[in-house]
Amino acid sequence: MSPRDTQPQPVSLPIDWAPDSWQAFQARQQPSYPDAAALADALAELRRLPPLVTSWEILSLKRQLAEAQEGKRFLLQGGDCAESFADCESGLVSNRLKVLLQMSLVLVHGMRLPVVRVGRFAGQYAKPRSADTETRDGVTLPSYRGDFINAPGFDETSRRPDPRRMIKGHARSAMTMNFVRALIDGGFADLHHPEYWELGWVGRSDLAAEYHRMVDAIGDSVRFMETLSGEEVHNLNRVDFFTSHEALLLPYEESMTREVPRQWGWFNLSTHFPWIGMRTAAADDAHVEYMRGIRNPIGIKVGPTVTPDKLLSLIDLLNPEDEPGRLTLIHRMGAGEVESKLPPLLEAVRREGRRVLWIADPMHGNTESTSNGYKTRRFANIRSELEQAFELHAASGTRLGGVHLELTGEDVTECLGGARELVEADLTRAYRSTVDPRLNYEQSLEIAMLIVRKHAQ
Ligand code: PEP
Ligand code: MN
Repeated sequence: MSPRDTQPQPVSLPIDWAPDSWQAFQARQQPSYPDAAALADALAELRRLPPLVTSWEILSLKRQLAEAQEGKRFLLQGGDCAESFADCESGLVSNRLKVLLQMSLVLVHGMRLPVVRVGRFAGQYAKPRSADTETRDGVTLPSYRGDFINAPGFDETSRRPDPRRMIKGHARSAMTMNFVRALIDGGFADLHHPEYWELGWVGRSDLAAEYHRMVDAIGDSVRFMETLSGEEVHNLNRVDFFTSHEALLLPYEESMTREVPRQWGWFNLSTHFPWIGMRTAAADDAHVEYMRGIRNPIGIKVGPTVTPDKLLSLIDLLNPEDEPGRLTLIHRMGAGEVESKLPPLLEAVRREGRRVLWIADPMHGNTESTSNGYKTRRFANIRSELEQAFELHAASGTRLGGVHLELTGEDVTECLGGARELVEADLTRAYRSTVDPRLNYEQSLEIAMLIVRKHAQ
């Protein structure tokens, strides 16, 4: 993340846009804060606080995504469904980083392509919900909307939206970023030392042998190149790591939107890569209006109800000049629907010659509830959607340039199946997510190996 190769590029600024112009549009999935004065105070404080990322880093990511659009890189985006304040803890943060580094090592080695690494973290604190309220035993309270907004406990105090939580979330995001940056700068991601990323499970897993073979092969080629050149191979001792979150809570996002001196225009400096969730991505939604004016690269979740026409008008709104690296389309159709819903979209975007990066989220179209009341996903469905996505892109002459996953470095039991063949009864053992079920470390690595196999076909 260095500024040296980033020169400001002139861009045309969007017309009639301001960081608050979204307020004239319909903003879905927002909390209703009971105390307007407290909200105004919190936002005034946030506007004064330092940003979490810089415009240099944002533009550097945009260039890397532009290269991914050209087939020169693969995007790995992953992390929790929802971060929680309580989980802002050194072990959890470093384990998540470890699993993402291991996956990217598998991808780099298997695909022979550089990987763009983007965490779903340092700000993933606001969640869209299917209902505004939740009723239990005759008591109705506001739904839990993520730690930015309220707390998961089912009582009136926990569920009351509290604007001070945005300030706490900003601080937790800064702590997470600080720790990740310090680890990376200190050589944690050094390819000479993949042993730093060992997780306790590696010795026990069936996948361990395959993983270690790759680590050894990479070690051999690094040593070989170093022997040849007589010096350390450059750039192997540090990697870029970027952050992303769903830019859902618009008052927060607006407060972190800053005009950067000597750059053109406005940046959301709370994250490198904000995305618009499926439920707030209609052309006339406030979220689309907000995203239209910021210069960050942005993602859009594309679900099965999006038609080719709707998608093309979103692309026109959000990237009228076809700027490279600007737009990533994250399709999340579900294993059963991807075959019918995805090809018309791929075809329309290809026909119009629009520049986008297509990536697959095989998680969100495959959520179901078990008979014992757990929200889960079957590994077989996740795998099937991903495999189909590779095949459908190949058949359409487009390219699947990345994946978007919900995962953790912990040994949780939230998704069914995988190498260890988790069954419903296992879900009671280590189900920790407050929102969506995540792949555990082993299932995550399995997905990375699967991507390599599909990519090679
Ligand atoms: C999510 O990414 O956690 C999410 C809610 O996704 P989607 O908007 O695709 O449903
Ligand atoms: Mn989710």
